[in-house]
Amino acid sequence: MINIVIFGPPGAGKGTQSEKLLEKYSLVHISTGDLFRANIKGETKLGLRAKAFMDKGELVPDSVTIDMLRAKVEENPNAQGFIFDGFPRTTPQADALDTLLASLSTSISACLSLQVPDEELVARLLNRGKTSGRADDADETVIRNRLAVYMRETSPLKDFYKQQAKLKEIHGVGTVDEIFGRLCTAIDKHS
Ligand code: AMP
Repeated sequence: MINIVIFGPPGAGKGTQSEKLLEKYSLVHISTGDLFRANIKGETKLGLRAKAFMDKGELVPDSVTIDMLRAKVEENPNAQGFIFDGFPRTTPQADALDTLLASLSTSISACLSLQVPDEELVARLLNRGKTSGRADDADETVIRNRLAVYMRETSPLKDFYKQQAKLKEIHGVGTVDEIFGRLCTAIDKHS
């Protein structure tokens, strides 16, 4: 099994690259942001709860997020591997993911961290906001809060994966295909 964490700040290109990676490596793509948005659209209890945090650019509480992620992994018992996009975002989430994968006799193969300068991220997200219909992409204050939350709560996970010798830093500026090529080289070296 190849299990990839695609890592990086909002706007780094995690979703775009995940779409290409899942095709090439036959992985199941799990994006916690997409799962929350589907729940909001479906007006579920989980969606209602998540929306209050997402609209402000804050993280949804770990317990809710971890339970949702676990359920999604368990829905795919025959997966050849997973690509985790937007998860983990906190140390408890990273610990929970390791425990979950260990219970399935597997583990994370690599954490691919896309590196993109902040001002480029803000420009990309504002641009995406024109068409994505995402409230959290349309407001620069919310975007900057998401970046601050990333720096504070999520970026420390680079050390978590570095300690496991699984972190691979990838230059995240260039064409979609150039960045995809860099990701594939990193995966092929790790697996
Ligand atoms: P994303 O689509 O990954 O940019 O996520 C959009 C929003 O969903 C984030 O700003 C958070 O509010 C929420 N979210 C997504 N994934 C997580 C996660 N792993 N932990 C907590 N909140 C999350």
